[in-house]
Amino acid sequence: MNVADSEVVGGILQREGYTFTKELGEADVILVNTCAIRDNAEVRIYGRLGLFGRYKKERPGVVVGLLGCMAERLRVQLVEEERVVDLVVGPDEYRKLPALIDQAYQGEKGIAVRLSRVENYEDIVPLRLEGVSAWLSVMRGCDKFCTFCVVPFTRGRERSRSLKSIIDEAHMLVDQGFKEVTLLGQNVNSYRDGDLDFAGLMRSVAGVDRNLRVRFTTSHPQDMSDRLIETVASTTNICKYVHLPVQSGSNRILELMNRSYTIEHYLALAEKIRKQMPGVGLSTDFISGFPTETPEDHGATLALARNVQFDGAYTFKYSARENTKAWQMTDDVSDEEKGRRVNEIATLQHEISLELNQKMVGATVRVLIDGESKKSAEEWSARTDANKVAVFPKSGEAVGDYVDVVITRANSATLFGSRVEAKAALEAAA
Ligand code: SAM
Ligand code: SF4
Repeated sequence: MNVADSEVVGGILQREGYTFTKELGEADVILVNTCAIRDNAEVRIYGRLGLFGRYKKERPGVVVGLLGCMAERLRVQLVEEERVVDLVVGPDEYRKLPALIDQAYQGEKGIAVRLSRVENYEDIVPLRLEGVSAWLSVMRGCDKFCTFCVVPFTRGRERSRSLKSIIDEAHMLVDQGFKEVTLLGQNVNSYRDGDLDFAGLMRSVAGVDRNLRVRFTTSHPQDMSDRLIETVASTTNICKYVHLPVQSGSNRILELMNRSYTIEHYLALAEKIRKQMPGVGLSTDFISGFPTETPEDHGATLALARNVQFDGAYTFKYSARENTKAWQMTDDVSDEEKGRRVNEIATLQHEISLELNQKMVGATVRVLIDGESKKSAEEWSARTDANKVAVFPKSGEAVGDYVDVVITRANSATLFGSRVEAKAALEAAA
């Protein structure tokens, strides 16, 4: 979501004649987009700001700005007290950036951190660097108020973009040569434009070009509708991949988290998805060490992971966030214990992913090539419909091509194989 937001910022500045550079030495304006979801994201930003602060001493004319979710919390400290940055701009005020940068050149510090009930930047064309896959934000904010989560406080109330603006952007992506788009929202199931819901939106975006792969994230388990499941299942260019964050395997913890579903509901939903979409990729998020989480609650999370057999999972140590309801609770699981629980879940998930991936050996899968393999210039890296990474030897293809690959081996993170035609030729030669 922050990548998508940075692209919106790029779009706003491009309209004013700015161009983008990745070279720090070339930049007249340096903007750092921040995330406040967990403490370690914040800690990293301090390191980065220290670096830019030193850089600013060498090139005093450079404007340094802090954007995003940390802006509201840190504006006093960073602008008024320590004067590390020239401007601080929250997620709903990016339109003010050009004026604030001009002001900074005059030596005036700028702060704009107000949240909006309507801003969705739908008229801004994001500045996307070349690639195969694009992010497309369809809504902003969140009204769910999970007790651990800072998003409703840093990004404000839920609001959707119009269908028309999203479809226009999808057409633009196809014209620019993108082959895949991921529709983004904190809870995409809340998307509305009049009577149109998220399932209707997905169907419309998929209709823009049948060669464009369409993905989405994130779906809240309480709100994922039958209509959405049917739409994903029945539309060929909507990828069969669902990221469905469960957070915990314990009903008691889920209730304390205000997640508003039970494990029984979650299991039934996962089963329904698997039944209607054979071969679907299913992934999740877990939080370890939420206040009062006992070894039994943690055991329930491990049992859930075993039961559902996720293809992948992101596991985070609980991080207390100011303003949230859980901030009032004692953060009573030690950091060491949180780490131990995270590792235990990760080890189990590693085994499950390995087993599921190895079951794919011998299968033929259609993949979209998204770049060179990180390990070898002789190989491509690609993604399956179910969002698994597949690596195979190059034989005249290009980035953005769809090819059929037969899987010959796998580890927990990657499938390895060769193109069906290449394998047939090798076998014939043998
Ligand atoms: N809106 C999405 C949802 O509800 O599924 C998730 C958005 S959040 C940016 C991504 C993940 O960060 C969450 O699913 C959760 O696992 C994790 N997360 C959020 N707040 C956290 C916190 N205070 N401590 C640890 N992990 C957190
Ligand atoms: Fe945060 Fe919950 Fe909203 Fe996700 S649904 S962004 S976890 S409040």
